[in-house]
Amino acid sequence: LFEVTEGKAKILVPKAESIYDSPVFYNPRMALNRDVVVLLLKVLKPKIVLDALSATGIRGIRFALETPAEEVWLNDISLEAYELMKRNVLLNFPGELKEESNRAILEGEKRIVVNHDDANRLMAEKHRYFHFIDLDPFGSPMEFLDTALRSVKRKGILGVTATDGAPLCGAHPKACLRKYLAVPLRGELCHEVGTRILVGIIARYAAKYDLGIEVLLAYYKDHYFRAFVRLRDGARKGDESLENLGYVYFDERTGKFEIERGFLPTRPNAYGPVWLGPLKNEDIVNEMFELVKKGVELARPREALKLMHMLHEELDIPLFYDTHAIGKRIKVETKKLGEIIKALWKRGYRATRTHFSPTGIKTDAPYEVFVEVMKRL
Ligand code: SAM
Repeated sequence: LFEVTEGKAKILVPKAESIYDSPVFYNPRMALNRDVVVLLLKVLKPKIVLDALSATGIRGIRFALETPAEEVWLNDISLEAYELMKRNVLLNFPGELKEESNRAILEGEKRIVVNHDDANRLMAEKHRYFHFIDLDPFGSPMEFLDTALRSVKRKGILGVTATDGAPLCGAHPKACLRKYLAVPLRGELCHEVGTRILVGIIARYAAKYDLGIEVLLAYYKDHYFRAFVRLRDGARKGDESLENLGYVYFDERTGKFEIERGFLPTRPNAYGPVWLGPLKNEDIVNEMFELVKKGVELARPREALKLMHMLHEELDIPLFYDTHAIGKRIKVETKKLGEIIKALWKRGYRATRTHFSPTGIKTDAPYEVFVEVMKRL
């Protein structure tokens, strides 16, 4: 074992050739993922929170150290992880763990519960108990989504990470159909469409419990998809949230896309269903950005600043034009994103960069206008 510091936490991590050989998983590259959820919990202040797939415990320990959460649960199915989580909790908090069967509890300024169980069993046991649940599995979160929607309070918050880029990005379309009940789109729009497929399936799963969703923030970064949603209680909220579902049509030859709202597509070759509603709550993202600017202690402050700045500025409308991919099609070479954006502003359109692609531009300008602007520059 060796000691690692991340944010305000210090934890022991097994020595291993690679992170995937380790008996208990710890990926330092996900520190930014944990920074962002810490920022969100600082803003929203949920009291009882669960890190359902905890591994070393780093995420939950950071919730306890860095956010106003009062009761923090860490859980993992692996016994080695359970033993390590207990050590790591004691490394960060003074006190004594009281063990009872498969759980150890520390009663201090904060209540910390370390649990050894299948996440689905724990979440089934704690029905409508948590104000916030974080699902951070290997690959797809779908195995845990349904139980999480019953374990979180009816106005609670759910955070979901998906690292299965191949299905969501369309490299394995059949796997996307099986896991997310959606047809993915390959190519330059795949990260945004993948993000919207993930949010779309959360909306569809939530609806059967008469729950709607509000997306607080959904983004793509470093090969993972991340979605934070707040549940909205009631059948009407469920209906409203389903109204945000729809489809994408994409012309491979030109790079032109169209979107269509509705539970069913009206034309062939539709991709989806996807979530076509907002991918962020402006006020909350603004507050998170302000916290980073103020310099709250984080593990990756510079990266967090860059990411939050981008997410904060980004126009929140479906899809974008990728200058690189469209340039190839229309045989125009351009690296002038800033100039294209200004030219679109001059014509009265809104336009910004997008975090989904370094060469992408989000705009409400029609495809034809965009292409004309590209050709002129
Ligand atoms: N959240 C951690 C972090 O931020 O460092 C990483 C979690 S790791 C990607 C996934 C963990 O889920 C592994 O430690 C694995 O043992 C655990 N796991 C897999 N299936 C599980 C299940 N059904 N119930 C609980 N834990 C499970």
